[in-house]
Amino acid sequence: MKVVRGINEMQDLVDNIHTSQQTIGLVPTMGALHKGHLSLLAAARKQTDITVVSIFVNPTQFGINEDFDQYPRPFDQDCEKAAEYGCDILFSPQAKAMYPENYMTYCLVENITKKFEGRIRPGHFRGVTTVVLKLFNIIQPHKAFFGQKDAQQTIVLQRLIKDLNLRTKLLVMPTIRESDGLALSSRNAYLTAQERKQVPIIFQGLGEAQKAYSLGKRNTRSLKQIIKKCYAASPIIQPEYVAIVDLETLKPLHSISDKALIAVACKTKESHTRLIDNIILDPAI
Ligand code: AMP
Repeated sequence: MKVVRGINEMQDLVDNIHTSQQTIGLVPTMGALHKGHLSLLAAARKQTDITVVSIFVNPTQFGINEDFDQYPRPFDQDCEKAAEYGCDILFSPQAKAMYPENYMTYCLVENITKKFEGRIRPGHFRGVTTVVLKLFNIIQPHKAFFGQKDAQQTIVLQRLIKDLNLRTKLLVMPTIRESDGLALSSRNAYLTAQERKQVPIIFQGLGEAQKAYSLGKRNTRSLKQIIKKCYAASPIIQPEYVAIVDLETLKPLHSISDKALIAVACKTKESHTRLIDNIILDPAI
């Protein structure tokens, strides 16, 4: 595996790959690689010739009171894991190369970025779309692989690709979970032992809604109530939002007749860790 720090060096490699007619699969990450990231890498390996994993803790997607400084950066371990899982190129640029002095260009998807994560984290998606567009321009991947875990992010990025006529195809891969249902996340490392025991309730709440849905419940108010009641039983988590929305527009649904997204976010009360999760309700399943 080649580790590349420089943007110019990465672009030269990309030129060579394109000349040799090979396809590029990109897995953008902020590092602290876990099995969720590695499942994206495995998918990229299956579907494209050359797999690039980017590791970049992107400062523009963090708010001023968020965990940018604290965010885990186990770079050597990440390199080992990526190499072990067959990554061809690990691209990890410096922040000052991505955003040099006098940097002033950002890209913004409107409307759907103002809801849910965007409402709680103003500016977050502006940072995400900007860095992803920059990575797409540098790496020119044929396919880019993202996790369903960050459902709103995938919807925003699909919009970016469509609206700006980008040629990269976005693939969304399933959420990888611990055996007790907790979605893997680099931020799980912040949890206290007590919180770690209780946070699987986040997925259990979604599971209860899914069960009610399969028994025929379609009214979103009562489905949301089921989830909220489940979370209220835990003294350690504070729900931030429980939403049942259209998969493309993120508009709230009153009753479910087609595919729908249930997205939740909770904050823990001891370590103040934000955890998000979601499921898709599909009438065809
Ligand atoms: P991050 O490093 O948190 O920016 O995540 C990089 C990519 O990994 C994003 O596309 C995430 O959606 C994806 N990802 C994070 N956690 C999981 C998970 N548990 N299962 C699948 N994909 C994930």
